[in-house]
Amino acid sequence: MPITPFHFGPGALIKVIAPRHFSWTIFALANVLIDLEPVVLFLLIGDPAHPWLHTLPGAIGVATLAATLGRKPLEGVLVWWNRRLAFGWQTRWLTVEPGIPRSTAWLSALIGTLSHLALDSIMHADVHALWPINSGNAIQGLISLGMLHGLCMVAAVVALLAHLVARRFAPHGAPARSNR
Ligand SMILES: [Zn+2]
Repeated sequence: MPITPFHFGPGALIKVIAPRHFSWTIFALANVLIDLEPVVLFLLIGDPAHPWLHTLPGAIGVATLAATLGRKPLEGVLVWWNRRLAFGWQTRWLTVEPGIPRSTAWLSALIGTLSHLALDSIMHADVHALWPINSGNAIQGLISLGMLHGLCMVAAVVALLAHLVARRFAPHGAPARSNR
């Protein structure tokens, strides 16, 4: 890791940059799935290691799972979310586009796991992201943990502000189709 939620900030920033081609929910699911590896290993052997899923083949495998099995259930969650919103400020500010096209799901899942590998490689010496092409980790320690977490949080704040500005200027009653 950085613990999983820190990865969500850069994902939110990508969402505001390319809203129609990126699903934040699929991105988040892919990040949660890949971090089941250190969580489960910690519970089993007391070591939150990254031996399999935090590699190129592992990340592609996790992305495949998220894009194929996650798409329909997440669309259902987004429909459910929209239905719970009260008409008025909630529908104006919180409505999301519930459809996730297949291509968007694949792109978002791959960005999710591959960006996860990049960030985790900076933090953890045992992440061999490019295995089996290249074992080792050349970018571990590139920036400090505090700086890494700070940048992830800045990305989240910038994304939130951009979202609020976009909704503020969206036609009333027609939220931008941008917040999956
Ligand atoms: Zn991780």
